[in-house]
Amino acid sequence: MRFGAHVSASGGISKSIGRGVAIGCESLQIFTHNPRTWRPINHTDAEIAAFREEAAAAGIGPIVSHGLYLMNLGAPDRDVPSGPPGKPATSSRNIYRLSVTSLIQHLEIGERLGLAGVILHVGSSKGSTPEESIGRIAGGIAEAFATAPGSCQIYLENTAGAGDTIGRTFGQLKDVWDRVGNPERLGVCLDTQHLFASGYPIHEPGGIDAVLEDFDTTLGIDQLRCLHLNDSMTDFGSNRDRHENLGDGKIGPEGMRSILGAPALQDLPVILEVPGLEGDGPDLENMRRAREFRAEGLRARGGTVTA
Ligand SMILES: [Zn+2]
Ligand SMILES: [Zn+2]
Repeated sequence: MRFGAHVSASGGISKSIGRGVAIGCESLQIFTHNPRTWRPINHTDAEIAAFREEAAAAGIGPIVSHGLYLMNLGAPDRDVPSGPPGKPATSSRNIYRLSVTSLIQHLEIGERLGLAGVILHVGSSKGSTPEESIGRIAGGIAEAFATAPGSCQIYLENTAGAGDTIGRTFGQLKDVWDRVGNPERLGVCLDTQHLFASGYPIHEPGGIDAVLEDFDTTLGIDQLRCLHLNDSMTDFGSNRDRHENLGDGKIGPEGMRSILGAPALQDLPVILEVPGLEGDGPDLENMRRAREFRAEGLRARGGTVTA
C-alpha cells in the first residue's frame, strides 16, 4: 500500500508535493481545477516542470486528480436555466457539454503533470432514466478519450448512493465500463465511506473480503486502481456522503483493521479524504492511524507489513 492524501494545490500546483511530504504521503491526490468554477486554471510550464521534479525527488506516486464536483456526465444534453442559488435564472447552460469539456481538460492537464488518472464521480441522472444517463456518461467518457489521447486514465468512483447518483453498485459501474469501450484507459476507485453508506458491509468480520469478491466477479479485481480510505460519520446504508477521521466513525477501528488487512488491497495507492482532527483535511495523525490499522490488520490475518 502506498498511503497518500488529498492535499491542496493552491498557490501553484507544485506546492501540493511539499504538503503531501509534510504529512508522510507516498501517493497523492489533488485538484487540477479550482473546485468552484468551470474555468480551468492556466498552469504554467514552469509550475508543471516544478511539480514533476518535486514529485520525482520526493518519490511520490502514483498521483491522481479528483475531477470537479460540478461535472455531471449523467445530466441531460440540453440547455437548462441557471443562475445564483435561490435566485431567478439569469442564463442557461448545458451541464453535459460543460462536463465533457471539463473532463477533456482534466485529461490534458493530467497528461502534462504525469498523473496516473482522474477520479470521476460518474454522474446523476437528473430526472432521466438510469439507462439513458449511463449512455450519456459512457458517450462523454469515450469522447474525452478520443479528444485527449495519452496514458492518463479515468477511474470511476463508487458513490454513497444519494439521490439519483449512478455508481452506487458494482453493476452500475460495470454498465458504464462496458459502454465506454476503452478498457485500457479505465479503472475504478472505491471509497470505503461510500461503500459503507451504500450498503456494502465492509465493517463486518470478513465483510471486505466478500465485497471484494463481488467486485472481482462483476468488474475484475485488476480494474481496482485506487482506494479512498475514509471512516463514516453516517450510518451503514444511510446513502449519505459524510467522511470521518479514521477510527472515529461508524466503520470504526475494527472495520479499518479488517479493510486495511485485506490481501486484495495491498498493492493499491490508498488516499485519505478525511476532515482532519483540526478540520484542515488529512493530517499526520490520520496518516499514522492508517499505517497502524494496516499493521494490526495484517497481524490479525497472520501476515506482516512488507511495503
Ligand atoms: Zn470522490
Ligand atoms: Zn465522499
